[in-house]
Amino acid sequence: MSQKVIGLIGGMSWESSSEYYRIINQAVREKLGGLRSARCLMWSFDFGEIEALQHAGRWDDATALMIDAAQRLERGGADFFLICTNTMHRMADQVQAAVGIPLLHIADPTAERIKARGIKKVGLLGTAFTMEQDFYKGRLKDKFGLDVLVPEAEDRATVHRIIYEELVQGRVEAQSREAYRKVIARLIERGAEAVILGCTEIMLLVKPEDSRVPLFDTTFIHAEAAVERALS
Ligand code: GLU
Repeated sequence: MSQKVIGLIGGMSWESSSEYYRIINQAVREKLGGLRSARCLMWSFDFGEIEALQHAGRWDDATALMIDAAQRLERGGADFFLICTNTMHRMADQVQAAVGIPLLHIADPTAERIKARGIKKVGLLGTAFTMEQDFYKGRLKDKFGLDVLVPEAEDRATVHRIIYEELVQGRVEAQSREAYRKVIARLIERGAEAVILGCTEIMLLVKPEDSRVPLFDTTFIHAEAAVERALS
């Protein structure tokens, strides 16, 4: 069976890109057998450069970099591509418009799995950009009819801080796991039937046993959906 070439825009951060690479290759091995692995290309950013643009609100400059990355993958022969971070789907439409290969949007397979479980009201954890701006929540609501709950302001600040000060720097701390468990519990109290781990590093910290409701890990779901498409 010939595989499509998966393009990955990674490095945001590489801590999660390495998870994508592992999950994608493991899934191909499971489906095709022991020696088989994924055909893929990754463009990996210097995250320091991206993070500085994000926190300065320089989204146009960040968009130009993202378009350049997608075009590199297209020139390299990718058949379709992924943006390996939730936050940088902020400019997904502009990036998609600049290339001829399709983007596999991270929110879509995530929302499809949530809907398949009959879940309607879902909590969302991610960076402040993902939790507060409309590009992600809006897609979940408008395209999939999900009811999205985000943590209260203080909890959002905690979730955001732990992502940038710890997880993208490869630090996984027990006290931060405890903080996330409390944020998840408060979302459940407010009616969340499930929680989206809507930042690709949260899966390094939080596991199913940290929540009383199902967790939807965008890293795993996105990587698996890529393999399904590559083998279809
Ligand atoms: N990987 C994270 C996400 O999924 C945060 C890093 C970034 O801002 O890209 O949103």
